[in-house]
Amino acid sequence: MNTSNQTPNKEEFRDHLATVTEEGKRIWIYPKKPSGNFHKYRVIVAIILLAVLFFVPLIKVNGHPLMLLDILGRKFILFGIAFGPHDFHLFVLTIIGLIISIFLFTVVYGRIFCGWICPQTIFMEMVFRKVEYLIEGDANKQKALNKQSWNGEKIFKKALKQGIFFILAFLIANALLAWVIGIDALVELASKPIPDVLGRFIAMILFTGATYFMGAYFREQVCTMICPYGRLQGVMLDPNSIVIHYDYKRGEPRGKIKKDEEQNLGDCIDCHLCVDVCPTGIDIRNGTQLECINCTACIDACDEVMVKVKRPEGLIRYASKNEIETGDRKIFTPKAIGYTIVLILLFSFITFLLSTRSDFELSIVRTAGLMAQEQPGDKLSNLYDVKIINKTFNTLPATLELNNMPGEVKLVAGDITTQPQGVSEGKFFVIIPKESIKSLNTPIEIAVKANGKIIDVIKTSFLGKVAGQKLENK
Ligand code: SF4
Ligand code: SF4
Repeated sequence: MNTSNQTPNKEEFRDHLATVTEEGKRIWIYPKKPSGNFHKYRVIVAIILLAVLFFVPLIKVNGHPLMLLDILGRKFILFGIAFGPHDFHLFVLTIIGLIISIFLFTVVYGRIFCGWICPQTIFMEMVFRKVEYLIEGDANKQKALNKQSWNGEKIFKKALKQGIFFILAFLIANALLAWVIGIDALVELASKPIPDVLGRFIAMILFTGATYFMGAYFREQVCTMICPYGRLQGVMLDPNSIVIHYDYKRGEPRGKIKKDEEQNLGDCIDCHLCVDVCPTGIDIRNGTQLECINCTACIDACDEVMVKVKRPEGLIRYASKNEIETGDRKIFTPKAIGYTIVLILLFSFITFLLSTRSDFELSIVRTAGLMAQEQPGDKLSNLYDVKIINKTFNTLPATLELNNMPGEVKLVAGDITTQPQGVSEGKFFVIIPKESIKSLNTPIEIAVKANGKIIDVIKTSFLGKVAGQKLENK
């Protein structure tokens, strides 16, 4: 048994949570230390993801973070490209795209995300649990330690474990915070008096407390009780979804191997190891369950048993319900392939939107309701409004020039030097010699320059006067 109490009767498992007694008390799970091929691959993936978590916030491009997810400040940097409030439409499209992607991915591939990528699973199974095994030993030793009285050994081990848990929670919380506020703000938090950085300090305390609580105490309850993604699995999965399944057709009737006895049993030898390793305390042989986070521990445990008893591996494996029922081991059904193609197209679309986004938004329009004005030197002028949105991290010292005919541009209101991530507005005259104006509405081009380079050319029109013709404003 992997729990401190009895796991629920298998006929009644759908009416119970594996980690709660009928009286509503928590059943503490003591999963046996996992090992095996899937576990090795999961460790590698976890190391890569933890490296991303801790080291990516340290990377800077041109003095700015490579990645920043400042939700409260509505400022995001993805691979060095800044996205601000002006990119709200992109943000909404990306979120909608991600929600559809998660839905499609789950329909086809079940809870692969939970087992391999979810931060909670990685922190719990690959960080906190590893420390626990190191200090307190495997499941049986942990149970024994918890039962024994508070002697020196128990106090030392428990204090050491909780101390390391707290340090880990602090480190993880700061790494998460670095993604949200940036590494510079985090360094400031460490170096300035608390009143000067009070908001960040409170955020750090909350992040640390939540991480510690989830790693040291709440554990699998996060997946089974809080996580909305986990709760929605029931409506997302269908009989073709690929999840972790026990092949009941092959395994049943289960039973222990008895030497020198004729037995008409399936391949499951009822060793209970798949249950003993489960971090959510369930028996996968009962079928797909809400609590299963697809961590693969039961696959590894069962494969090891199958090798020992000289039976084929894969009694518990990634499979769809239909595959188990029909025996047709076809993982990629036409539906799975179709959804995967839609997923790839969706991601390509989002990537296209993000990568083709311009650094600036410029608009120049002739000021409504105003006619051409006479200017000294036999010239005419029109008044225009200019608006510049600078999405970069650098100040944009914009200047305006008439591009396609002789004439001048004269800024009369505002300042069009635009601050990083800022907006500037101004008004300017375009002044053109009368001899260059051949019609009532002359197309003109205004070049917007920054640091001597043209960054955009805006096409608009110049309202003129031509001898013998009426003046009109189009
Ligand atoms: S049933 Fe298997 S895959 Fe699911 S959570 Fe338990 S050990 Fe992990
Ligand atoms: S580990 Fe495999 S053989 Fe052992 S009880 Fe689970 S399914 Fe049966």
